[in-house]
Amino acid sequence: MQLAAAGFDVTVYEAQPVVGGRSRRLTAGPYSFDCGPTFFLMPYVLEEIFSACGFRLSDFASLRRLDPMYRLIIGNCDGAPTVLDTTQDVAHMAERLARIDPRDGAAFRSFMDENRRKLARLTPVLKQRVRSLLDLMSIDGIAAAPYVRPWESVHQCLSKTFSDRRTRLALCFQAKYLGMSPYECPSLFSILPFIEYEYGIWHPEGGCNRIMSAMADACTRMGVRIETSCAVDRIAFDGRKVVGVHAAGSLRRHDRVVVNADGTWAMKNLIPQELRGRDTDAAIDARRYSCSTFMMYLGVRGEVDLPHHTIYMSDRYEETFRDISQLGRLSEDPSTYVHNPSAIDPTLAPAGNSALYVLLPVTNNDPRQCSIDWDRERPRLREDALRQLEGPFGIRDIRRRIEEEILLTPLDWQRERINHGATFNLAHTFDQMLHRRIPHTHPKLAGLHFVGGATHPGSGLPVIFLSSTIASRHICELEGKTHPFDAMGSAAPLPVALAAVR
Ligand SMILES: Cc1cc2nc3c(=O)[nH]c(=O)nc-3n(C[C@H](O)[C@H](O)[C@H](O)COP(=O)(O)OP(=O)(O)OC[C@H]3O[C@@H](n4cnc5c(N)ncnc54)[C@H](O)[C@@H]3O)c2cc1C
Repeated sequence: MQLAAAGFDVTVYEAQPVVGGRSRRLTAGPYSFDCGPTFFLMPYVLEEIFSACGFRLSDFASLRRLDPMYRLIIGNCDGAPTVLDTTQDVAHMAERLARIDPRDGAAFRSFMDENRRKLARLTPVLKQRVRSLLDLMSIDGIAAAPYVRPWESVHQCLSKTFSDRRTRLALCFQAKYLGMSPYECPSLFSILPFIEYEYGIWHPEGGCNRIMSAMADACTRMGVRIETSCAVDRIAFDGRKVVGVHAAGSLRRHDRVVVNADGTWAMKNLIPQELRGRDTDAAIDARRYSCSTFMMYLGVRGEVDLPHHTIYMSDRYEETFRDISQLGRLSEDPSTYVHNPSAIDPTLAPAGNSALYVLLPVTNNDPRQCSIDWDRERPRLREDALRQLEGPFGIRDIRRRIEEEILLTPLDWQRERINHGATFNLAHTFDQMLHRRIPHTHPKLAGLHFVGGATHPGSGLPVIFLSSTIASRHICELEGKTHPFDAMGSAAPLPVALAAVR
């Protein structure tokens, strides 16, 4: 969108029959599902892009703020689980946490204040190209430095503020959005729960996939050609200069190529080894990757008595992360997320029925740590997921009510051109952030650019949109064109955090 708005002639090559990638729409009979993202955060990031390109997001997608944001079911080893409905109303949320432990109610307010300051300091870093520590200094990275504590995990950080284990879990499980354990994820990411409580969680009618088709619609209106079912086999080079892509059996000539495919998969599969220098397949595979997911999408007869989002955390939460990120094995009582959009959105299932999405975080398919035969384990994973639905989620009769079903394992994700099937991309460990992710502009191969979850700022919908602005802005600079954000002049979008509180 941004390149087209800047006046470039743009063609999108999409391997799948539909646009959207991990965020595409899946269908099974009369049921529709989001393939991946279901939590839409910081919608203003995308609103800014639409408005810079001359559109209004609200003309393409209808967004609804969720309250409760989600239900947490937190296992207790010595009694019934704690059920906590979260709300963006900070006073009410503080009361709910105070019922768990009076100290945690008060601590929640200071947590919000502290993270508001933290996000304000980090925002410039999230919006700029970072090629080195020098870049970081020039964009006020120093101001953010006190908040960057590489030695501290999100869980350790929250343990200093909150007294009760359940409160800490309620505010650290969000590391999962990055496919990481809160016991390893850098404390910097305590901004994730803050962002939820500050700016809300949103549901686009029809699901997050609507956002993807909204962008495709906007692109088409601007004259972008979108070729679906058209996989790029490799990027074409003349020496070290990009000259196009090989797709559908022919060379398509282009001056620049922006790779939105899974970054590490693309490095290995689309760029010849002799042009990659130190980025050998082995070096790329040796990096740290996020977890993967087992997915079950169910078309279910009748209604399901669950809110829009429900997250179950077992009483052995920390152990389940060890299973996933260190031991490469399946957990006995997996933490599970269930999405029940039919509770508020009638467009996804026939009247009176439900489109249910079940996610179990599992180890990725990196052979260094995983020897699971996913095709063989598929029935066991299905059984685990159904047992969780009947157990902590309390859905009776689920087996008899299933009308349609789709299952995805890490191997299926890998077959979709995702390296190691790591659904949330390169891990966001401190040594793989900022300039240590894949660069937006390749330093040695002219005309080659990257966007998406492997680049800075990282994985997740709002941040991949930020990465697209960073990359397209740099392409405009290189080509002497005005980026749509810069063309807005005084109407240029405010820094993200400020725009949101306006
Ligand atoms: C199960 C799951 C749940 C998630 N939940 C959330 C959530 O709730 N909220 C959130 O913000 N984020 C969530 N995420 C993360 C979010 O989906 C990703 O960060 C985001 O989709 C990554 O976008 P991307 O553009 O980098 O990659 P992708 O979405 O994977 O897009 C890459 C595209 O490139 C195409 N492609 C690949 N190779 C080729 C080729 N050779 N030729 C042509 N096309 C090719 C692919 O088909 C795909 O369309 C979730 C992800 C998953 C998997």
